[in-house]
Amino acid sequence: MTTRLKHILLFMTLCAPALPAPVHSPWPGGIGVITIPGDTRPTVTVNAKPALVMQNRGEWVAVIGIPLEQDNQLPLVATVTRPGGATEQVAIDLREADYRVQRLTVDRKYVEPDQASLDRIFAERKIIDKALTNWREHELADISLEPPVPGARSSSFGSRRIFNDQPRSPHKGMDITATTGTPILAPLGGTVSATGDFYFNGNTVILDHGQGYISLFCHLSAIDVEEGQDVAVGELLGKVGATGRVTGAHLHFATYLNGTAVDPALLISGN
Ligand SMILES: [Zn+2]
Repeated sequence: MTTRLKHILLFMTLCAPALPAPVHSPWPGGIGVITIPGDTRPTVTVNAKPALVMQNRGEWVAVIGIPLEQDNQLPLVATVTRPGGATEQVAIDLREADYRVQRLTVDRKYVEPDQASLDRIFAERKIIDKALTNWREHELADISLEPPVPGARSSSFGSRRIFNDQPRSPHKGMDITATTGTPILAPLGGTVSATGDFYFNGNTVILDHGQGYISLFCHLSAIDVEEGQDVAVGELLGKVGATGRVTGAHLHFATYLNGTAVDPALLISGN
């Protein structure tokens, strides 16, 4: 290949507009993208939960979160219902994901909480789960995300985590290192569905983009939005901090589709 051609291709890559729909990424914690022919809007469910459907270049596209705990030896089955009632099963074959093991040391209260803290964690879990699994009808034309803060983005999504030598649930988000006080900007428009100061997550904002597409921002030093508030892309949500179960200041940024955490890197523009 000539140098000139290489430069042209590089230029085209750098200037390529973000795709409104993500790339098919069929592994646990990834995103299944299926195209559904037809003029009228289909509905899609996976594991009995509704999935996001959008129009992309004149076609219907379902964007499906693949659970981290999904067995990659088995296909994930989506049920597609077309207007008029015809139902079809679409199998998504999965590949293995190569997630690492991460060892972290935190304050003992985050590994062995006392009974009062366990009660608090249980009550908070219900609030968080409700917000992360909410379904709000809303047409989406483009689901790509802007990075919520500049900074080095870890690739630790999916890591199996060992806190103080004790295994805990895998890491369901992306950590972005930034100093305390760095503004966190909405990566896409949405409605603030929950805020709070939670035991593990610290100061938290949950943003509902519609159709089960939810983003979560944790460990904030300040929250600058209120529940029920509509925000546009780029609007201030809060500031980076080190509240909750952390080893230092950073933003824990997580994204959810059909109630399951998916790797935010697959949704960020330019990735
Ligand atoms: Zn994190």
